[in-house]
Amino acid sequence: MTDAAAPPESAFDPQALETARVLFARPAVFMMGAAQISGLPAADLPEVAFAGRSNVGKSSLINGLVGQHRLARASNEPGRTREVNFFVLDERLRLVDLPGYGFARASKTTAMEFQDLGRAYLRGRPNLKRVYLLIDARHGLKPVDAEALDALDQAAVSYQIVLTKADKIKPAEVDAVVQQTLQAIAKRPAAFPRVLATSSEKGGGLPDLRAEIALACDVHAL
Ligand code: GDP
Repeated sequence: MTDAAAPPESAFDPQALETARVLFARPAVFMMGAAQISGLPAADLPEVAFAGRSNVGKSSLINGLVGQHRLARASNEPGRTREVNFFVLDERLRLVDLPGYGFARASKTTAMEFQDLGRAYLRGRPNLKRVYLLIDARHGLKPVDAEALDALDQAAVSYQIVLTKADKIKPAEVDAVVQQTLQAIAKRPAAFPRVLATSSEKGGGLPDLRAEIALACDVHAL
């Protein structure tokens, strides 16, 4: 790590940030949605997946990362949100949008089906490099998120918590939520010990998240 040379607000050196910026400026395209575990694409590219409660800001974050407004569709398209959606970036890696959890209006059975698909994906994906678990910065970790954390620990997939909508609260409040979250995950074996605060609206935290994804997928240079 070259933390000493990095600006204080970033854990990454300028070169890593620049590589990631260029990577995410390259074409990102919707590949496919899988409604069943048998319909997943071949595990032939590195993948990072995004999980979180519905409405946490998952579509906005994926769109913000690639700088496209309409790549990941809004959560109000019910068909799409039940699938695992795959986006290919630069024909080099895939961003994977997992079904949102915590649906208030879905029946219990339907909610379980979404989760089963998500869990099956997490357990059986050798090319899955990291899962980003999105948490609303205003709320922090909630009981409904604990189940997702348990599933991730059980699947033994490396995961990292990303706070969303950080622009909605004051910077000092964001710092407090980051600290609380770090404490809450300290004993969780598969949790990456860094929490990123992001704002898809203002762009805050996105350069670092791009750099995290590039490194997780072993993209060190282009
Ligand atoms: P999803 O269900 O997790 O895909 O959530 P969406 O991306 O559709 O976002 C849910 C709502 O939160 C939408 O109204 C977004 O405009 C809003 N939102 C998402 N990200 C941000 C953000 O960074 N800042 C603010 N202020 N609002 C956001």
